[in-house]
Formats: sequence, C-alpha cells, structure tokens
Amino acid sequence: MRKVTIVRQHTRSGRVVRSHSRKLQSAILDVKKKYKIKTPIEAEIIDESKGSSLGHTDSVLDSKTKKPVKHIVRLESSKIKKEGENIDSIIHHELGHIVDKEKGDMVKKPKGKAVIAAIKKTEAYKKIKGDKYAAKPAEMFARAYAQDRSGKTSKKEVQSGLAWERKDFKSVKAKMKNV
Ligand SMILES: [Zn+2]
Repeated sequence: MRKVTIVRQHTRSGRVVRSHSRKLQSAILDVKKKYKIKTPIEAEIIDESKGSSLGHTDSVLDSKTKKPVKHIVRLESSKIKKEGENIDSIIHHELGHIVDKEKGDMVKKPKGKAVIAAIKKTEAYKKIKGDKYAAKPAEMFARAYAQDRSGKTSKKEVQSGLAWERKDFKSVKAKMKNV
C-alpha cells in the first residue's frame, strides 16, 4: 500500500499540526484499506488561506473515463484550532467526499440515494435545507459519512445543523451501513 505523503505544511503551529498530520495520515490509510482505494491521495495541511472552509478536497478525474486519478485533501490548521472544531469529523468529512467520488458519485446511485432520502427526513436537515451549499447531496453525504465514522459530534455542530443528535441519526446510520 502506498504511504501517504504530507506534501506541504505551510504552518506555524507545530505541535497541533503534527497531531493533525498523524490523524490525517492514519485516517487516509484506513479509508484506502476499507474501500480498497488505489487512487493516490495527497494531503496538505495549510495555514492562512482565504475563505472560511476548514477542509477541502479536490478530486482529479480522468477526462475520458471520469474515474478519479488523484485526490488532494487540504486541512486548514489554524482555522480548525481557532474555531475548536472536531478535527476527526473534519477529516472524515473530507474522506467522505473521496469515498463518494471513488464509488462514481455515490449520491447518484441507489445506496447513496437511500442515505440522502433518510437525511431528508431528519430534524437536522430542516436547519440546512435552505442552504444551497450544505444541502447539496455530496455535502450531506460527506456529513453523514463523517458522523458515522467519527462517532463524535459537538453541541455546536448539532446546533448549526452540521451534525445529528444520536436519535435523529439512527435512520441515516442504518443506510450508511450499505455504503
Ligand atoms: Zn464538504
């Protein structure tokens, strides 16, 4: 199995970055093993970038086959630290996007659609359904994936509609089992 390479670390907060970097590396190895992903996954931990996102994933697709040839995950370390977000859910959220892409746009296939349908019946969905970005199927899938994998949610995440209360998530979790 290919080792994950943290390509660049443009950061000043050394200790936090090392621990984020380790978490990211082991999460990537786990997801590659679980889903038998052969596509290289590159990771970057960066600092001082613009915008408000804490993590971002780019999937480079082959122009003919539309299959991914490379994924690049970026975590924005300083923002994660400042906002005190749950690093595990951020990492798993980004990896959820990779799983989605690897499965050829999971959210357009029956198993992924079942996850989205279950999400639309939850309380948490009511908070985000007016949000063009958060209510995108790929985003909702990544969120469900993150909660399923990290198993942890903060009150803040639940309040903002980025995560589900345990009970509210039950039906979604059941559908995630097939993914
Ligand atoms: Zn996302």
